[in-house]
Amino acid sequence: MATTLITGGTVVSSTGRTEADVLIDGEKIVGLVAPGSTVFGSDLTASADTVIDATGKYVIPGGIDAHTHFELPFGGTEASDSFESGTRAAAWGGTTTVVDFAVQTTGTAVPDGLQKWHDKASGNCAIDYGFHQIIGGVDEASLAYMPKLVDEGISSYKMFMAYPGVFYSDDGQILRAMQKAAELGMLTMMHAENGPAIDVLAAQLAESGKTSPYFHGIARAWQMEEEATHRAIMLSHLTGAPLYVVHVSAKQAVEQLAMARDRGQNVFGETCPQYLYLSLEEQLGAVSEEWGDFEGAKWVCSTPLRSREEGHQDHMWQALRTNDLQMVSTDHCPFCMKGQKELGKGDFRKIPNGIGSVEHRMDLLYQGVVTGQLTLERWVEVTSTTPARMFGMYGKKGVLAPGADGDVVVYDPDGHTTISADTHHMNMDHSAWEGFEVDGHVDTVLSRGKVIVDRGAYLGSKGDGRFVKRGLSQYLV
Ligand SMILES: [Zn+2]
Ligand SMILES: [Zn+2]
Repeated sequence: MATTLITGGTVVSSTGRTEADVLIDGEKIVGLVAPGSTVFGSDLTASADTVIDATGKYVIPGGIDAHTHFELPFGGTEASDSFESGTRAAAWGGTTTVVDFAVQTTGTAVPDGLQKWHDKASGNCAIDYGFHQIIGGVDEASLAYMPKLVDEGISSYKMFMAYPGVFYSDDGQILRAMQKAAELGMLTMMHAENGPAIDVLAAQLAESGKTSPYFHGIARAWQMEEEATHRAIMLSHLTGAPLYVVHVSAKQAVEQLAMARDRGQNVFGETCPQYLYLSLEEQLGAVSEEWGDFEGAKWVCSTPLRSREEGHQDHMWQALRTNDLQMVSTDHCPFCMKGQKELGKGDFRKIPNGIGSVEHRMDLLYQGVVTGQLTLERWVEVTSTTPARMFGMYGKKGVLAPGADGDVVVYDPDGHTTISADTHHMNMDHSAWEGFEVDGHVDTVLSRGKVIVDRGAYLGSKGDGRFVKRGLSQYLV
């Protein structure tokens, strides 16, 4: 088996940093070695097949983005990144594992949806991938299939309190699924927004002529997120099912999570880069020469961007520091403006929901280290180690330790990244992050011991990535 030595760097974990060389044999890490050690021979750099010089750089476990939607049918179109283009873009940005959502919509069968997702991903991914299962129709058949999901390495499933007729589950359905999940040890993921009430608000706004993207944010008011988050937490409390709330954007929803956690509940929350940096006023309300007030469509996603005046963004950073929120995923769900977002010109309700960020999560969160929002260790924790533990992959993923997969990123803190649609690798005709400057750079990326990105060159190939069978959550209290 070929050996690789990453030498001279600072290894950063969720608990600290050490000067150490990382030795990889084939696909696995076999050891962290003190620089200059001769324990494996007189000179490791001479005996290793490949030597990567990481002097002056951080050596971190590859990023894990636990919330992506590649090739997702939505709103009469389909998310513009395929598994091939999306996972390659992820690799460019230092992410070596994604967990995507297999879809069951209301009225279809869970195993059919799951099989479809295996077919889409198999042989096409640049990096390793797992699945959560969206259950959009809680009935006898889907409940009966839940134990099989666990057996197949899909230990988490998602329900929606929004999107009636497509994905929506009512409280009774949520209760039944949670009872089953509690029995199986499955993690329940929740899209927590009061969809039926939001749909009424959205219709009232549209009927009164308020049709621009800005009103997407008004219709999906924070009260609707706080209320649904609270309701999900109470159903979780009643059933004993661990709960993970996806894409938290309202500070009031964070307060609900914090209260439940203080009570000792297994309740967790993720936020996304867009809720840390972007806002209702600046992005959803944006006007451009090209698109007029439809410019804001680029940032239509659910939950929506929140008002900066109300302080949601600052609160998300704080919650990441205090562990009221545990991790950051992207909710990567890209749509082009031309031919896709355009479907909602004149009616914000028809704009496909989603933002593409899978390539930029590591950099955008590293910028939080630069600005003092997060420590270096917390950066690794919220982008890799906690996702691995939360979703049953820790040991294999999320850590640089003997026996772990050789998923490694060499990150240059003195590098620089300018984000633009002209240079990104996602299949999108615009960037939600156009012009963002990040003080840091992904230099080299290894996926199971193979160098797939190296200083501006892509060396991987389609089909490198394998399906990861996940175990139960390793994060529960
Ligand atoms: Zn969602
Ligand atoms: Zn999502």
